[in-house]
Amino acid sequence: MKYYSTNQQERDVSLEEAVVKGLAADKGLYMPDVIKSLPASFYDHIEDLSFQEIACRVADAFFGEDVPADTLKQIVCDTLSFDAPLVPVSDNIYSLELFHGPTLAFKDVGGRFMARLLGHFIRKEGKRQVNVLVATSGDTGSAVANGFLGVEGIHVYVLYPKGKVSEIQEKQFTTLGQNITALEVDGTFDDCQALVKAAFMDKELNAHMQLTSANSINVARFLPQAFYYFYAYAQLKKAGKADNVVVCVPSGNFGNITAGLFGKRMGLPVKRFIAANNRNDIFYKYLQTGVYSPRPSVATIANAMDVGAPSNFARVLDLYGNSHDAICADISGATYTDEQIAETMKNVWQAHHYLLDPHGACGYRALSEGLKPGETGIFLETAHPAKFKDTVEKIIGEEVDIPAKLQAFMRGEKKSVAMSKEFTAFKNYLMNE
Ligand SMILES: *Cc1c(COP(=O)(O)O)cnc(C)c1O
Repeated sequence: MKYYSTNQQERDVSLEEAVVKGLAADKGLYMPDVIKSLPASFYDHIEDLSFQEIACRVADAFFGEDVPADTLKQIVCDTLSFDAPLVPVSDNIYSLELFHGPTLAFKDVGGRFMARLLGHFIRKEGKRQVNVLVATSGDTGSAVANGFLGVEGIHVYVLYPKGKVSEIQEKQFTTLGQNITALEVDGTFDDCQALVKAAFMDKELNAHMQLTSANSINVARFLPQAFYYFYAYAQLKKAGKADNVVVCVPSGNFGNITAGLFGKRMGLPVKRFIAANNRNDIFYKYLQTGVYSPRPSVATIANAMDVGAPSNFARVLDLYGNSHDAICADISGATYTDEQIAETMKNVWQAHHYLLDPHGACGYRALSEGLKPGETGIFLETAHPAKFKDTVEKIIGEEVDIPAKLQAFMRGEKKSVAMSKEFTAFKNYLMNE
């Protein structure tokens, strides 16, 4: 499969090159030349297949031309060593729980897959060390760091905004050691993302070391997120509820929802999508007005969605041929304040005894307000509520149990390098590594 850049300057790029480079030299995002449809026979019997079997079929459509079948199967099976159950919450609304992996968030899927695929390419070629730069507003860093931990030939630098991630999130990428370095940036998530982007554009730095990204701009992290949309559909079909499916995705950088849109393009019978935002409503505004105007992000209690310039917006535009009408036909939007998010968490806990995290709460609320008669809704529960323990406890007025996986991180010792948000300081640091 060849990849092209959304900025059109780069074409016919191999998967390996797209994965190693992350971002195209023209600053565009890589897109596959072809999005293959899966045959009707696959959808007819999808409910009889396991998560891993479904993911293998989807992975084959994306990566089958470039990775030997047995290797790809191994990568998929190693990645998906946990379930993504679909749980009924209230009438016609289901939660797709994507928090059963090692760091209790959906990004484990892409993080683990990318680490294994990149590891495969490095082994195959006997390449020099590859350095992964990842900016995080909380969950990306932990998923990528844990996915890559101990993978030979790869070093990971996690850039995160000082004081803007929860203690539990921070512990998940600052306590690992080995090939993982945490950089505590005196700035916002957007500053972290800008540093990473600037690093990729810097000739001298790129001559000094091989850099790649593991944000959802990287196709190896982005595409595997399609797997669980197919699995969610399979589970709904098994329950006899698979007509008029609406999928609602709590969105920040829009990687997750875009992977779902790829699924729809491959024939997955989803009627429409809803992108749920917190107060960072850039995409919502775009849907309303047709104008995309990125802004600095504002802090909310759903902090993994505090994004002022969603990096995958370019992919959404590209997928729909830049047509605002076509985008609006498939996707609607929603935006919620912290008060609305809290109110939703509290109400759903009281009425249905289901504990939402602040991100999933945006998804649930958008469905509860936006489902039409005859539709069945799935929202992606993108993280375990215990990852936001303090926030959640304050809202529901009860204690939240911390799963053993998280407790283990909490016992570790934080190690990080203080970093200014100025690029020259960041560059100097890397040049001396
Ligand atoms: C990353 C993240 C999101 C947003 O996903 P995008 O792919 O950036 O849109 C939502 N919820 C949680 C918990 C996250 O970690």
